[in-house]
Amino acid sequence: MIFPDYHLHTSFSADSTEDIYKIIDTAKSKGMTSICITDHYDMDFPVIKEAPDMKFDLDIPNYISRLNTIKNEITSDFDLRIGIELGTMPSTLKKLTKFVEANPYFDFIIASTHIVDNMDPYYPSYFEGRSYKDGHRRYFEDELYAVTNYSAYDVYGHLDYILRYGRDPENPFDPMNFMDIFEEIFKQIISRGKGIELNTGGLYKDLNQTHPRKEYLKLYKKLGGEIITIGSDAHTADKIGYGFDKAKDLLIECGFKYYCTFKDRKATYNPI
Ligand SMILES: [Zn+2]
Ligand SMILES: [Zn+2]
Repeated sequence: MIFPDYHLHTSFSADSTEDIYKIIDTAKSKGMTSICITDHYDMDFPVIKEAPDMKFDLDIPNYISRLNTIKNEITSDFDLRIGIELGTMPSTLKKLTKFVEANPYFDFIIASTHIVDNMDPYYPSYFEGRSYKDGHRRYFEDELYAVTNYSAYDVYGHLDYILRYGRDPENPFDPMNFMDIFEEIFKQIISRGKGIELNTGGLYKDLNQTHPRKEYLKLYKKLGGEIITIGSDAHTADKIGYGFDKAKDLLIECGFKYYCTFKDRKATYNPI
């Protein structure tokens, strides 16, 4: 059994050129019988000084109609689910809630923090004038704000994604420094009936860890977290299902017995 990949980007995303049919064919070749496409939509994406023309808009009517057409074309032994990855910022949470109400077409919604203080941590300027540790905490604070003030989503994406950036070789990241804020984040997520994802993207981004990493996954489980999806965050077909064998071992080690899939925004719990 291979988990259905619940975090996938195609050419509908501004940072992917991958053909959706190639995504589907590759998923099938890896033994998957279902996937969920989750292309990016970052509402009000700010002008980033290093990449002023970058936008993460999504043509929703076209996206939905294209995916529905493909759904009807493919054979019934493969179940294509329609999702979206919504980038959140404190300034867009109310508008995103209205957006989700007005667009009830999705099986599954990932909410993710990509931008903090109008900066993209992908660029080193995010860390200018502050320590890496402060830059990391600032990211987690925005996630805490989002999960406290927003609930139009199913799982929160790549919770410690900031660790991809601002790595200090002299002071390796210590997960214990942030257990307090992760506890608050998880309590909000769990009490609102939401979940998290296990994102394997960090395994192929020279980080050698999942998002979130093991310490935080264990904490989520300990606090009563049950809703979890698995996604590769692939932007190219070759990364579909990347590291899912490791993800399985990790979930079992952390005490999870089920992973979730979503249809019409409702969770199904599947045995691992
Ligand atoms: Zn993301
Ligand atoms: Zn993504």
